[in-house]
Parts: sequence; structure tokens; C-alpha cells
Amino acid sequence: MIQKLVTIPNKVLRMKSRRIGYVDDAIKQMASDMIETTINWDHDSEIGAALAAIQIGEPIKLTVVRNDFEDRNNHDFTSLINPEIVKHSTEKVSDIEGCLSVPGIYGRVDRYLKVKVKAEDLEGNEVRLTLEGFPARVLQHEIDHMNGVIFLDHIKSAKNLFSMNENGKLSPLSGDKPKVDE
Ligand SMILES: [Zn+2]
Repeated sequence: MIQKLVTIPNKVLRMKSRRIGYVDDAIKQMASDMIETTINWDHDSEIGAALAAIQIGEPIKLTVVRNDFEDRNNHDFTSLINPEIVKHSTEKVSDIEGCLSVPGIYGRVDRYLKVKVKAEDLEGNEVRLTLEGFPARVLQHEIDHMNGVIFLDHIKSAKNLFSMNENGKLSPLSGDKPKVDE
């Protein structure tokens, strides 16, 4: 079932998510709902890359990540339980990112180029991922959500904020930095 997205400045986004001890049917259903909600959000100009449970108001360490960030017709996702970064590169890279909880606003954020992530799948099996570039960025963004952090928190200068038009083209955001907290 499609869920309502929590957006800024809702303080729910500041909650710290708790570890999941046991994956029951309710959590499996939640993962399924999160995938449906992300696909439903897809626009002509972009597709949703991932979603953290807090973005539908559930403070638990669950995220769903798209398997193919380029192909909008590919609706396969990977569900990750209790993801954590166990190792990262010293090198960071700067790129534009957005968030389903921050409608219409994009920003340039520095992220680690490479991360090693430890998590579990919905069957409780340990999963280890070695990620580089955009997928590494996505996981850092999702794990931030579990700690109550929004990508805008990383942006110090208004020149790194953008808005997107219907054609998917970015332009500098006019006006003040959006209100992140109530
Ligand atoms: Zn986000």
C-alpha cells in the first residue's frame, strides 16, 4: 500500500531509528509498502533511488534501495535491515542529491567515494556490500536518515542549493535555505 511521505520540516525526520531485532511479517510488509511508495513517486524527470522507513514515519533501521538507478522500468529493490558503514575511503566526492522528504530542492553534498556496508536482508542473512560512487552516496544518505540527519544539514552555502524544472534541469535556488526544522 502506498504510504504518505514525511517531508521537512516535520520533526519525525529528526528521530533516531532503532535497530531491528527480528524481521516479522509487519516489517516485510513495510518494505513492500516503501518500494511501492518510491515507485509511485517516480516522475518524468527522475526516479526515486531509495527510501528509509522514517520517511513513512517508522523509526526503524530499514531502507529499500533501487537495484538499477537508470532504468525506470526496473522495479527491483534491495531491502536492507540495520545497515551500517564498516569502512570508508578517505576520499570524498561532491555531487548533487535530492530526497523524497525534501520536495523540489537539490543540493551539492560531499560523500565518501567508497563505503563497505554491513546489513541484513529480510531473511536475516548477513549482507556485505562494497559500493562506489552513486550507490555509495545513496547508502550514506539512507544511513543519515536513520540518525535523524537530512542532506541539507551537510550544505553550508546557499550556492550549493538548486531547484529542478519539469525537464529535470537544475537551476540555483532563489531565496533562503528552506526551513528544515519546525
Ligand atoms: Zn532522503
